[in-house]
Amino acid sequence: MAQADIALIGLAVMGQNIILNMNDNGFVVCAYNRTVSKVHDFLKNEAKGTKVIGAESLEDMVSKLKKPRRIILLVKAGQAVDDFIDKLVPLLEAGDIIIDGGNSEYRDTTRRCQSMKDKKLLFVGSGVSGGEEGARYGPSLMPGGHKEAWPHIKDIFQSIAAKVGTGEACCDWVGDEGAGHFVKMVHNGIEYGDMQLICEAYHLMKDVLGMDHDEMAKAFNEWNKTELDSFLIEITANILKFRDADGTHLLPKIRDSAGQKGTGKWTAISALEYGTPVTLIGEAVFARCLSSLKEERVEASKSLSGPEGTKFSGNKTSFLEDIRKALYASKIISYAQGFMLLRQAAKEFGWSLNYGAIALMWRGGCIIRSVFLGKIKEAFDRDFELQSLLLDNFFSNAVQDCQDSWRRTISTGVQQGIPMPCFTTALSFYDGYRHGMLPANLLQAQRDYFGAHTYELLSNPGTHIHTNWTGHG
Ligand code: NAP
Repeated sequence: MAQADIALIGLAVMGQNIILNMNDNGFVVCAYNRTVSKVHDFLKNEAKGTKVIGAESLEDMVSKLKKPRRIILLVKAGQAVDDFIDKLVPLLEAGDIIIDGGNSEYRDTTRRCQSMKDKKLLFVGSGVSGGEEGARYGPSLMPGGHKEAWPHIKDIFQSIAAKVGTGEACCDWVGDEGAGHFVKMVHNGIEYGDMQLICEAYHLMKDVLGMDHDEMAKAFNEWNKTELDSFLIEITANILKFRDADGTHLLPKIRDSAGQKGTGKWTAISALEYGTPVTLIGEAVFARCLSSLKEERVEASKSLSGPEGTKFSGNKTSFLEDIRKALYASKIISYAQGFMLLRQAAKEFGWSLNYGAIALMWRGGCIIRSVFLGKIKEAFDRDFELQSLLLDNFFSNAVQDCQDSWRRTISTGVQQGIPMPCFTTALSFYDGYRHGMLPANLLQAQRDYFGAHTYELLSNPGTHIHTNWTGHG
């Protein structure tokens, strides 16, 4: 008998928690998994006492669903998604909805949308962020694909999503095709940037100011009461003060070699592909790559010298505030760049993206959740067509207020030999963006000199000319 509101395939950490979340919100969920024994285990343990039902096969699952059937896939991204789609298609009817909630590549989602359309089925690719905890109690959800599906899933999605402010859900329709997964990818790239910026602040506190772990934890706790109020700042304070079983701090014992699963890299690749200067996320990805060359760095550290040993002679309290402001200004640049990439992708693919709604989706539930994202939402509320966050008064004033501190932090850090790839690229971007005239006139001349690539004159844009620079024939 059709009794379930929705089915979910994939009983790993994300799937199980999303099911329990949907159950809490009054929806009857049918659970299925490739390894069917996991359905039995789930019903006996985690889902015991809930209204969740199980299925023994895909046919069984489909027969238990109300129409139009709604099926969420939360399986390993890639081939597993296509395999399940292939098995589901013959069992479904026109108007049924398949939702992929995994970390799929946005182009795969666009391809799947196209192929489902031919079969008269609806397809949604939804970014899901917030990890295990978010999935259970309120993730950030970023659905995109066939918009006809939205009225049928909106209630479920917005009920289970994180809530902020006066109960606004961190979930709204993002756009056509792979737009939901694209936005999730940029979210992950921004997460890389936020994390690296915090690491650079930590490096400066530790090696320039010589702060101990408890002092640094206290500073991050204080910062969490300012414009930087966010999940990542909060957990950084907790990590810094965390002590191992032996009573000493755990953090300095952790091997300084960062892992990555690839979504930051995808964002940087997209930025290069669409010619958008998302420099900060790119540097954050490369910083992880450099960190992973641990053995090589240890070898290099024996022979390559820097200015280490130079003692910081300034005022420690005011330099700590400089670092905070450098972090805030750099973060503004990172988000401005991330939204530039979204805008460029929207242009490229003909998506109509609601940038304020995207900021709200990230405002709660996910790893980059912060008060700051509320400010971004307000900026897009003030001007729906806002070209760049840096052109909004609130953010331009904020950068202006931080600017001196930002420059002092970077020059002091450079003099002390501290690597700050994201702080520095953010400032270079800012300085580039605010210059009406860049040295690219010389670059154009060079290109024309050696390759006859032509150039335009400032006085006559649109007309491409070539000069014989050497005077030879
Ligand atoms: P996962 O480890 O990515 O995937 C495990 C699930 O995929 C299991 O149900 C497994 O079934 C199924 N699966 C794997 N290979 C399969 C195949 N070839 N054919 C059919 N089924 C296959 O699980 P997860 O960590 O819960 O993540 C689910 C999705 O959400 C992924 O796309 C992930 O990237 C995304 N995501 C994860 C997080 C997170 O914090 N973990 C956050 C956001 C998004 P069996 O039990 O039969 O092996």
